[in-house]
Amino acid sequence: MIPIRLPQGYYTKTGTVLLRRDSSREGQSLLLFMREFGPRWVSAPSATGKNRFGGSTEPMTWGEFSLYQSPSKLYLQGTEVKEDFLTLRSSPPAVLAALRLYKLTAKEAPLNCENDAALRMLWSALVQLREKCQPYIVEFRYTWKLLNLMGIAPSLDLCAECGERLTDGGRFTQEGMRCRRCSQDRGEPVSAQELAELKGAVSLPHDKFILWSRETREKDCYIKNLKKLSPYFSNMR
Ligand SMILES: [Zn+2]
Repeated sequence: MIPIRLPQGYYTKTGTVLLRRDSSREGQSLLLFMREFGPRWVSAPSATGKNRFGGSTEPMTWGEFSLYQSPSKLYLQGTEVKEDFLTLRSSPPAVLAALRLYKLTAKEAPLNCENDAALRMLWSALVQLREKCQPYIVEFRYTWKLLNLMGIAPSLDLCAECGERLTDGGRFTQEGMRCRRCSQDRGEPVSAQELAELKGAVSLPHDKFILWSRETREKDCYIKNLKKLSPYFSNMR
């Protein structure tokens, strides 16, 4: 188990820049999401008013970070960039989706503790966006999978009330997906076909998902149901 405050010393970890905050006096503060360390705030001081790290501190950059833990702070010493996902910037919907996933992760992933499964999911989502998968499907998939990792994702298979299989579709309520009988007309209706779509989006393995999500798919179904997922995060608090 990695402690919240690292012992003084030097470290090297791979990961990505989740957030960056600039301050003219202190340089940059970066929220790095790293293997084994999870998301952690790191100081990247400027040298004589200049950013020493160039583009390597841009959010969405992936690389190997060299760090130094002093008695008071964790400092960035250098970055070896492995992938900057710059090609995403040629597609505004893809880059906006990526930024939303980064914001969501920064907000919801617990700080200072290992979360390699979420880190791998984030990497896969960016690869999917780069591979031209539909951004709204990638976003639904990532959001549901992040909830699932936290143990609070609504089942897309079984009624949250009676546990029966949702073969005829269901209704999306605050408490989960419910069968027609249990929902008593509350919540947003989700047809059997829509449910099959959503299940495909969250359960296909990465490579199959890439091919599948490039096909023409029902955009509204994802947009509508993605909105329904957001309150599940706040249910936790
Ligand atoms: Zn039911």
